[in-house]
Amino acid sequence: MTKASSQDASRAKSPSLESPLATALSQLRRAIDQLKLSENDWNTLSTPRRILEVAVPLRRDDGRVEMYKGYRVQYSTTRGPSKGGVRFHQDIDLDETVALAMLMTWKCALTNLPYGGAKGGVAVNPKTLSLAENERLTRRYTSEILPIIGPERDIPAPDVGTDERNMAWMMDTYSVNAGFSVPGVVTGKPIVLGGSLGRTSATGDGVAISVREALKLKGIDPKGATVAIQGFGKVGYWAALALEEMGLKVVAVSDVSGGVTGFKSVTDLQKYAKENGTLSNAPGTDGLTNTELLHLGVDVLVPAALSDAITEATASGIKAKIVVEGANAPTTPSGDAIMNDNGVIVVPDILANSGGVIVSYFEWVQDKQNYFWSAEEVKTNLSTILMRAITEVADKAKDEKLTWREAANMIGVARVAQAHRLRGLYP
Ligand code: NAD
Repeated sequence: MTKASSQDASRAKSPSLESPLATALSQLRRAIDQLKLSENDWNTLSTPRRILEVAVPLRRDDGRVEMYKGYRVQYSTTRGPSKGGVRFHQDIDLDETVALAMLMTWKCALTNLPYGGAKGGVAVNPKTLSLAENERLTRRYTSEILPIIGPERDIPAPDVGTDERNMAWMMDTYSVNAGFSVPGVVTGKPIVLGGSLGRTSATGDGVAISVREALKLKGIDPKGATVAIQGFGKVGYWAALALEEMGLKVVAVSDVSGGVTGFKSVTDLQKYAKENGTLSNAPGTDGLTNTELLHLGVDVLVPAALSDAITEATASGIKAKIVVEGANAPTTPSGDAIMNDNGVIVVPDILANSGGVIVSYFEWVQDKQNYFWSAEEVKTNLSTILMRAITEVADKAKDEKLTWREAANMIGVARVAQAHRLRGLYP
């Protein structure tokens, strides 16, 4: 059932050009070379440790039975249990899930959380499911991956297409099988089930802190600075709110249907999107395409939707001075190279969106101790950990004349490599 083999490694090493996995592997290769690590390190770090692919049967409300592909990839468990989101999206596949699990590994190491990295999901469009179908699919997926998850093994969390409701069903399915309540098996749960205050907004809050700090380092006053955000989900919406609170001006946001500009209130916009399932035609707004949004003349651009938004085709039109990656892997290597040539500062995903896993860590700690923190404590501790990582990355980038992405990857990868060396190779 579970397999950690050279076959998986070779699958991971021959992805198509510029796929999220190709991007992640090329970034790892660069970090290994810059750190002057050995080929043994490359072999160890470029191989996902455990991959589980499952068939997830779903009985639709009308009685039809459909089969969906599900995945859970535990990329690394060297520094602690693996940790990472569960995505429900029709386009996910194993390669992308491996790539995202790899990014989680460097992200947890960069922020010094005692975790490895994981990712999972089901290749389904959740918008096609009724609430009851979504619950049955979530429970069956949980039950299929149940042997390899747990508070000491691998702790899932929400990602694209899932939310705290899915986490409640996952927690319940795991707990019913265990025979007792196990809140620490997932994070991003509702507060009454052992969730943490501040988790819902944490990724967006972290993105906003990253925007503020990058602007300050570039000598731009955050007050009044302009931002465009691609993606208006859990990350994009909360980032927009936090940025407005900091005094920045969010001038455009988008979802899969396209973008809007000219709105007065992000909160009203979200209310409209919730009621109508789309941002399109929101009253009092002007429409624009997702590409037009990427090319707006703003101070900061925040891609907060899916992978591969900033590519060879879209990067050269970017006018923002700073790009803060709310999404995972939104930039391809050629997109990255073009932005670097054009002097755009890119705050990489593993730093900019780490607020989510930082507060997930707090949630797990609170569940382990059965002792819950105030919203203020969560906020303060999030800021402390994230600011430490931002400072470390910014200093290293400046001292060694690196991009922020190179600096962040080098710090994360070096920590995992060091942990491997210290643990040694069994037997
Ligand atoms: P979500 O499902 O809540 O929202 C996704 C948003 O992206 C929606 O507004 C959707 O309409 C939009 N979108 C989808 N396809 C698009 C397209 N082709 N063009 C433009 N917009 C599109 O997901 P989320 O949790 O906000 O995650 C967004 C990104 O942030 C993902 O890359 C995810 O891995 C990453 N991330 C999420 C978290 C978290 O805590 N949720 C943490 C770290 C990183």
